[in-house]
Amino acid sequence: MSSFDAAGMLVSPKVQHQRYSHIEHGALQRIRAIVVHQTDSGSAQATFNAYAAGGNGAHFLIAKDGRIIQTASIKMRCYHVGRLIKSRCLELKGAACKDAAIAKATALGWAARIKAIDQIERQKAYPDRFPVNSDSIGIELVGRHLDSASYEPLTPAQLNSLQWLLDQLYAHLSRDSGDVFKHPQVSYKNPGEAARAQWQ
Ligand SMILES: [Zn+2]
Repeated sequence: MSSFDAAGMLVSPKVQHQRYSHIEHGALQRIRAIVVHQTDSGSAQATFNAYAAGGNGAHFLIAKDGRIIQTASIKMRCYHVGRLIKSRCLELKGAACKDAAIAKATALGWAARIKAIDQIERQKAYPDRFPVNSDSIGIELVGRHLDSASYEPLTPAQLNSLQWLLDQLYAHLSRDSGDVFKHPQVSYKNPGEAARAQWQ
């Protein structure tokens, strides 16, 4: 098993360090969950260029050839989840979700509804709600979106590296596969993002 150094960087011959301070936004006090993303870029380099220019990012990037690059410290927060989270109760249970405040929010128009749901959910503790930026880390897999519902497939090398990386994180953070989410499960995204990612 590999380990993290004092700066929150994973020390292993399998992991390159290329830290972008622009995408780190204050201290990350606790890590409860992991969110898996796809970059909507065709190469790791295109994502590095965006990070260097100050875009939002995540803690790890997995290139198409399976290379793992750590782009932010796990002690720092990245804005990878987005501002408005979905209701875990509503997404999992549908009509059987007995949260009265959520039921009220679902009667609102779309823009007001997703804002109200986010506010209700943020008062809950994980795992009653989905992860947020202040209690999760993100893994980006390089891949472009194809249309409004799909992304390009992941390579076998990317899937192998994702599993290896998750195994390191499970051990270090005392988490398991129940704490790993695809980005569109958690917030309002192209449903194809990371749709073809698999892990144990
Ligand atoms: Zn994402």
